[in-house]
Amino acid sequence: MSTLLAKNADILVTMDGGRRELKNAGLYAEDGIIKQVGPTAELPAAADVIIDLRGQICLPGFVNTHHHLNQTLTRNFPGAQDNNLFAWLRTLYRAWARTDAESSRASTLVGLAELALSGCTTVFDHSYVFKNGNNVDCQIEAARELGVRFHASRGSMSLGESKGGLPPDDCVEDEPAILKDSQRVIERYHDPSVGSMTQIALAPCSPFSITADLLRESAAMARHYKVRLHTHLCETLDEERYTLERFNMRPVDWMETLGWLGDDVWFAHAIHVDDEEIAKFARSGCGVAHCPCSNMRLASGIAPIKKYMAAGVKVGLGVDGSASNDASNILLEARQAMLLARLQLGLLPPEGPRKHMFLSQSHPVRAREWMTARETLELATLGGARVLGRSDIGALEAGKCADFFSLDLNTIAYAGALHDPVAAVLFCAPQQARTTVINGRVVVKDGEIVTMDMRPVVATHNRCAARLSEGA
Ligand SMILES: [Zn+2]
Repeated sequence: MSTLLAKNADILVTMDGGRRELKNAGLYAEDGIIKQVGPTAELPAAADVIIDLRGQICLPGFVNTHHHLNQTLTRNFPGAQDNNLFAWLRTLYRAWARTDAESSRASTLVGLAELALSGCTTVFDHSYVFKNGNNVDCQIEAARELGVRFHASRGSMSLGESKGGLPPDDCVEDEPAILKDSQRVIERYHDPSVGSMTQIALAPCSPFSITADLLRESAAMARHYKVRLHTHLCETLDEERYTLERFNMRPVDWMETLGWLGDDVWFAHAIHVDDEEIAKFARSGCGVAHCPCSNMRLASGIAPIKKYMAAGVKVGLGVDGSASNDASNILLEARQAMLLARLQLGLLPPEGPRKHMFLSQSHPVRAREWMTARETLELATLGGARVLGRSDIGALEAGKCADFFSLDLNTIAYAGALHDPVAAVLFCAPQQARTTVINGRVVVKDGEIVTMDMRPVVATHNRCAARLSEGA
């Protein structure tokens, strides 16, 4: 048995049922599972690994619910800097189709390392271009080596340009091959047990790159194996026009006809929805991955996150792919989620109950419309866990996974903000994690990745990125 003791945190945010924030506290874990959380004086004194969190705040590890890790190879891509989704995709599809096993491994490691350095401990990745030997296997191997809890997808694209889809024909795959490989990776890797480090989701890319048949068959396979379903939905008005023109239906209605609304489904973005569609998500149990940086970067729009929350829809945060962010920093993403919801509040017309113009949290009508720092931290932890269907992560309490991170409080960035160190995590500039522990294993120590040497990985990554862009 391996034991771990984290002690002396100035503040420990539990996200437990009482949302307790404990002073001079820590936790004790055995074999990656938390046994005890509480004041340092009440914890066991000895353990195999002891971490002193004096002068630090300790939080549950964040959960990232939408990413395309391979896109770190095409960050800041020439020609894709200043356009919206469809034009951006057309610029990048062929570069992504050149990703091979070596570049996939390097980009998976780079993206996961950046996430772990910003406090993220569980990552869902939505890969959907599998060519040249790039496969789910090399990503899972990389995640295991680095030590990040990983939900991989066997994503897909099957509807090429000649059949009315957006991607070029040479970037899509045959549907029988997609389904065969989906079955293979589920059977080989999906682990639904408590404390699981590896899960699989099926994730056809979008309504404009997948046939109706493959959407139906992916849903049937996911339900047979009890894995989750994911896709992009309601990201842009171009997508809405696409389903209206081709199917005479809005995107949510179209997905409903294909069996794609349910408790086992979550959608990335979900920006362009009406109140009825929000109610539909709440009734059916669909979750939402909110990706504010990407939505701003691509001028996609502002997702109605406070409305989703009020309706009881599950909402988690996602950094989205690094070609549209272009960071994989989950603390930065959480901060943007808080700020963007506030911008939206200011942009709403003063009609109906919103005639009150005092945008103050003390206003009896408008108070609940504000996105607070603690609400946003909850989206980043418990919210993401719910979206991924996990009750064993997202909080620090006995029986949950030992996934947490710490931030130094006595820094320049937090100076003057320590009246409320918890809110400072999002109000002040995002800091690098001092320590990140995943499954009871120290992945970040003193602000550095310690499970592997990242310098050669970055060098390989940059060589691969240059190769991808050369053929553009
Ligand atoms: Zn995406």
